[in-house]
Amino acid sequence: MTTATPLQPGSNEYVTVQSKFTSKMAGKYNIQIHSIIKVEVPKHITNNHEIYKKNNPGLRCDQYFHGTKHACAIRNLNSSKICQNAVCCVCGIIRTGFRLNNSRVWFSPDAWYSHGYTNVGIDSSRAMFIIDVVGASYSSGSEYTVARAEAIIPRYLIVYSG
Ligand SMILES: [Zn+2]
Repeated sequence: MTTATPLQPGSNEYVTVQSKFTSKMAGKYNIQIHSIIKVEVPKHITNNHEIYKKNNPGLRCDQYFHGTKHACAIRNLNSSKICQNAVCCVCGIIRTGFRLNNSRVWFSPDAWYSHGYTNVGIDSSRAMFIIDVVGASYSSGSEYTVARAEAIIPRYLIVYSG
């Protein structure tokens, strides 16, 4: 089962994620964070990721940002509000993990870059994932990529304006 749990503002975990996101925006946008949501995808997806990581001890695991579009009111997202709309990419990732798009997934170590892939939704918010990736390869500019869905796991969703 998937869970989406808003972190308590001011908690250690909230502050850690907030400062990483803010620093990687590099002052390029005037952002306001509405919520930071801890994402736990269904167990079999987490297990596949852990097995992939264990079977590839030579590959680094690092955190990146992934911006994508959403279609629902996301500002107060929690486990009971994850939508089933096929065009809501954010809820799709939360429900079923990452799917390859043209046999790859793209992401960036720079939140300001991933910002360009988000949209402003019906409640005037944007949403960006923090993901763990095993064995990411550099593509170009600020982009990195990986060709295995199980190499990626979403950890947090940041809902913000900017
Ligand atoms: Zn949604």
